[in-house]
Amino acid sequence: MAIQRPKGTQDHLPDGSPKLSLDTRAVAFQHVQDTARRVLERAGAQFLNTPVFEDPDLVKRGVGGSTDIVRKEMFTVYYFGDHGGFILRPEGTAGIVRAYLQNGLKQLPSPLKLWTHGPMFRAENVQKGRLRQFHQVDYEVLGSTDPLVDAEAISLMVDVVAALGLTGVRVKLGSIGDPADRDAYNAYLRELFGAHVERLSDDSKERLERNPMRILDSKSAGDQALIAELGVRPMLDFLGDEARAHFQAVQAYLTAWGVAYDIDPSIVRGLDYYRRTAWELHHEGVGAKSALGGGGRYDGLAEQLGGPLVPGIGWAFGIERLLIAMDAEGLDVPGQGGPLLYVAALDDVYVGHAATVAMKARQVARAEFAYRAVKPGNAFRDAERRGAQLVALIGSDEVARGVLSIKNLSTGVQSVVPAGDLHTFLAEATVPPSTYVQENA
Ligand code: AMP
Repeated sequence: MAIQRPKGTQDHLPDGSPKLSLDTRAVAFQHVQDTARRVLERAGAQFLNTPVFEDPDLVKRGVGGSTDIVRKEMFTVYYFGDHGGFILRPEGTAGIVRAYLQNGLKQLPSPLKLWTHGPMFRAENVQKGRLRQFHQVDYEVLGSTDPLVDAEAISLMVDVVAALGLTGVRVKLGSIGDPADRDAYNAYLRELFGAHVERLSDDSKERLERNPMRILDSKSAGDQALIAELGVRPMLDFLGDEARAHFQAVQAYLTAWGVAYDIDPSIVRGLDYYRRTAWELHHEGVGAKSALGGGGRYDGLAEQLGGPLVPGIGWAFGIERLLIAMDAEGLDVPGQGGPLLYVAALDDVYVGHAATVAMKARQVARAEFAYRAVKPGNAFRDAERRGAQLVALIGSDEVARGVLSIKNLSTGVQSVVPAGDLHTFLAEATVPPSTYVQENA
């Protein structure tokens, strides 16, 4: 059998490919990226790219040594003669904060809004909506602790899903407080779960030591049963005055703007540098366990990476999951469409001439040509299959007269266009009626 793509990866394919689904359609990916670009750039976000592989320390410190991502899911890349290796990025935030620090972006007007999109890599158990190479749209704001920035970030996420036409999206909002609040909560959890260690999963026994909050995130059914039985108090009960005021301010903005949300006390982001606001967007089409996207404030991250204190907040959508949700709602994405002009030669000697005409047309429009001489009937069939609007057939007569005879496939109108007027004709082609001589009209 021919070589297959690695498990947990997808090809993004051109329209017309057999067995195409929305989340493998290349134009659908572009549509999501373009929609995000429109929404985010109107809000002042600037695009940046960072490498897909980074220093292992960046990922370990930026994502957290106690997470599944770092402990079990990192892809490492080596090249010949290299000993340390690199990590394929599992998420975008750490790389963006690194780029901010390394490139002196602090000098740009603050708060600085950045966005990117691209592939992320996690060696997860593969299932629908859970891939090993997936794609995210990422938005990050650096340099402000203002709750207005949090509310705006959440609202922009809602704007992106709305611009995609999605309606069944729910925002789940929580807060994980300041470090002291979290210490108090962790102490409470340690005592509570400490009395039932024998019932915790092995992973959660370890979490009890390192970071008890992550037990609440556990995928183990036994852990979840214990959590339900113990009636664990939520993190929100432990918010200090400042974190509580911040959380209330975020909610007040969202309410004022009409952005619907539910308070979800179960949202935990257990890493040290996460602060205060945390949220997720959910959609039935993606399943209750998996988020469409999520975000949080990470005021401690820049310091964690060895930089100065730079408060930050950000979110990421999984593009595949957005497309799965769109598919579930019956939403479609327009195809790329065909060329405006299709040029075919009726005789071998004019094939190069036909190519030249198409190439000249490309200065103003999409144009394609036939690579060998064709009969008129075949030329029209091929042009239709490609979705062309106009067909120019080139034979001895056209070449001798220095004209192009161009047929509009939707109206049937045939025009004779002096070769030098091609650009003008194409510019007008979508605005009938044409001023050119019409034959067989
Ligand atoms: P996270 O960085 O884990 O908060 O993920 C942010 C978003 O990325 C999630 O809400 C998903 O939409 C998407 N995502 C994360 N992991 C995967 C994966 N393995 N496959 C597909 N999408 C993912």
